[in-house]
Amino acid sequence: QPSGLSGPSPVWHPFTQHALAPEPPVVVRGRGAWLETAEGGRILDAISSWWVITHGHCHPRIVEAIRAQAGQLDQVIFAGHTHPAAEALARRLVHAAPEGLDHVFFSDSGSTSVEVALKMAAGFWRHSGAARTRILALEHGYHGDTIGTMSAGARGIYNEAYAPFLFEVTRLPFPEPGREGETLAALEAACREAPAALVLEPLVLGAGGMRMYPPWVLSEMAALCARNGVLLIADEVMTGFGRTGTLFACTQAGVVPDILCLSKGLTGGSLPLAATLCRREIFDAHYSADRTRTFFHSSSFTANPIACAAALANLDIWDAEDVAGRVAALGALQEERLAPFRDDRRFRHVRRLGTITALDLAVEDAGYLAGIGPRLAALFRERGLLLRPLGNTIYVLPPYCVTAEELDLVYAAIAEAADLAGA
Ligand code: PMP
Repeated sequence: QPSGLSGPSPVWHPFTQHALAPEPPVVVRGRGAWLETAEGGRILDAISSWWVITHGHCHPRIVEAIRAQAGQLDQVIFAGHTHPAAEALARRLVHAAPEGLDHVFFSDSGSTSVEVALKMAAGFWRHSGAARTRILALEHGYHGDTIGTMSAGARGIYNEAYAPFLFEVTRLPFPEPGREGETLAALEAACREAPAALVLEPLVLGAGGMRMYPPWVLSEMAALCARNGVLLIADEVMTGFGRTGTLFACTQAGVVPDILCLSKGLTGGSLPLAATLCRREIFDAHYSADRTRTFFHSSSFTANPIACAAALANLDIWDAEDVAGRVAALGALQEERLAPFRDDRRFRHVRRLGTITALDLAVEDAGYLAGIGPRLAALFRERGLLLRPLGNTIYVLPPYCVTAEELDLVYAAIAEAADLAGA
């Protein structure tokens, strides 16, 4: 019998083969904070479908913008051509971003936004005639799954199998509470070697365990970079568009990075799109008066018009629906729900920044694939929740439309999880 049209699904899912998702539910609809399955089940999306959905699934303004653009212009080569949605979006992003980031390069995923940033940094130094090639990064950092971004990411389950293919970076210790000085000292020492750039996730390291560090550490790191001519690449792929309480996390530290990477929430999570913003000098370095050099990164779908229209609708929603106010209210709500866990000894560490909370169970962290993680995932699945533990860390990162009652369901399951873990 010819294969493909019947029998087991040929789809190769990320992570399918392990216990976090043995039999993936078939999701047919999304509305607000909820997903619905083919069997009529409902799943509360407590992690915004991999941290992308901001205003809720299928927000009417975004759906309408996608419909309108799809009927007008679906796709056009963006090399040597442009279109109104990209032009308008670039202007809006420059206006919204920290002052001085005045050029925008579009691509199509968080990984490519950071890959592009690394290439911009490399190109900047090469064209400037400086021998700066080394990248600095934070311990536990995650920046994507391409070879370049895996190199910048901390070695761990996501990338250790590919170690022979990755380039070396200098890794700074994560600024643990009370040990921030070690990070700053390591950065200062690394700066003496004239590195090209420091790439980091500002204030919250997502895939590395929702680890948080305070704004003053970020501003000290930025100051050290500025003093030593090291480019600062802020990967706001996860933190951007309100997650940490402000549109961008950098602004909480008063930091203007040299390069800013955006994706995920850029379209409200509706379509794949990424933007890498940079300062004028970085853009200028890539072009010479005789036009013999340029920046080579040509994703087919760069600045896809439909995705750009969705991103414009996302920014319209920010203005029209007081999303900043909603984000602040959600932060307060999350704090309220988290409060009872703050002195619960079954949790080793409990933290929040903006709309994101994270709770480390007081059990051994056996990593992503073993230990308590898969059992917790099964429990959450049974409770109709989309929550994916990172080892012994449970985090809640909901769309901004989530209600107090919906959060009650989430934290009730987290209390059950602590019992299950026997922490
Ligand atoms: N950077 C950060 C901080 C991320 O959290 C992610 C995705 N989790 C990426 C980059 C990669 O984004 P994508 O999965 O869209 O390639």
